[in-house]
Amino acid sequence: MTKTALVTGITGQDGYYLSHLLLNQGYRVVGLVSPHRQPNLAKLGNLATQVEIYNVDLRDPLALLNAVEQLRPQEIYNLAAPSFVPDSWKDPLGTLDLITGTATRLLDAVRQVGLSTRFYQASSSEMFGDVLSSPQDEETTFRPKNPYAAAKLHAHWTMVHHRQRYGLFACSGILYNHESPLRPPQFVTRKVSLAAASIKLGLAETLEMGNLDAKRDWGFAGDYVRAMWLMLQANEPEEYVIGTGKLRSVKELVSIAFDSVGLNWENHIVINTNLLRQDEHFQLVANPSKAKKNLGWEPEVSFEALLEKMVQTDIERLQNGSISQATEGKLLVD
Ligand code: NAP
Repeated sequence: MTKTALVTGITGQDGYYLSHLLLNQGYRVVGLVSPHRQPNLAKLGNLATQVEIYNVDLRDPLALLNAVEQLRPQEIYNLAAPSFVPDSWKDPLGTLDLITGTATRLLDAVRQVGLSTRFYQASSSEMFGDVLSSPQDEETTFRPKNPYAAAKLHAHWTMVHHRQRYGLFACSGILYNHESPLRPPQFVTRKVSLAAASIKLGLAETLEMGNLDAKRDWGFAGDYVRAMWLMLQANEPEEYVIGTGKLRSVKELVSIAFDSVGLNWENHIVINTNLLRQDEHFQLVANPSKAKKNLGWEPEVSFEALLEKMVQTDIERLQNGSISQATEGKLLVD
């Protein structure tokens, strides 16, 4: 029997890689997309003809109930979120409503329809926030530091409550930063890959950066969506911390990305203290041993291979005109 998977946030980075994985596994993939975001369906690229799109306002509980009733999915992946953390300070309530509200409405729909649908909630390492110990695992205390993280934590607990009270097969992955050529340019990895590509092609000279000592646990999105899928194939619904377990600094990120195209980063980086982030974390690093033990999950793509792929893809895009430095590279300085 063909399995049906519903995906919110299908037009995002993870939505793309997850849909690709599910289609390869023979799933029918249906993206739940709000009517006002239809223009962004263009981001699906070559997947547009392979997935189905169901128009539904994620803020409308009845519409979501109807969607679950009609589509009768075996699996739901709830990925939709305004995912750029600094933006959550500009609209804390909107962030809360989309992240927590959508999770709650979908879980309630699954409960009301009474199917044995398996549910994945996209949780985030940001929920650990102001950490007291490193690395973090599934037992680490949550100390969120921004509205995005607080909303994710609320959604996370709502998922746990639905599992405990109603017996739903509901899981969440507490995912650390994961990147790909599909990352939007406001994220630091893509900002750097785009700059390295632009400078290599002679379209820019320098790149403004904030704190080069900031550190992250960065992995490849394709590896992380495999973890989501594995969680829903497990015997028991549980939480999993998903990351590489390795902290890398922004300086290493810049150095590896520039080096991959034969550039010396020190000749091109300009420090701009206005770009320093107030809610920066330095010790957010995963202990993914539970995922390795229970799911057999391990990251397969190295940091170096990831960055090389991102820079090369940006070079190709700039050369073939699918992006322009003027539109994508607003953060670059000539
Ligand atoms: P992304 O590329 O930013 O994609 C976000 C998706 O959510 C897009 O499909 C976007 O639609 C949709 N969305 C945003 N605001 C919306 C709104 N107001 N109404 C309806 N849809 C909205 O994010 P991602 O990197 O794929 O991440 C997927 C999920 O994992 C997110 O929940 C994110 O918070 C979480 N997460 C990501 C990371 C990471 O490092 N990538 C780490 C931990 C957790 P449009 O295309 O229309 O904008």
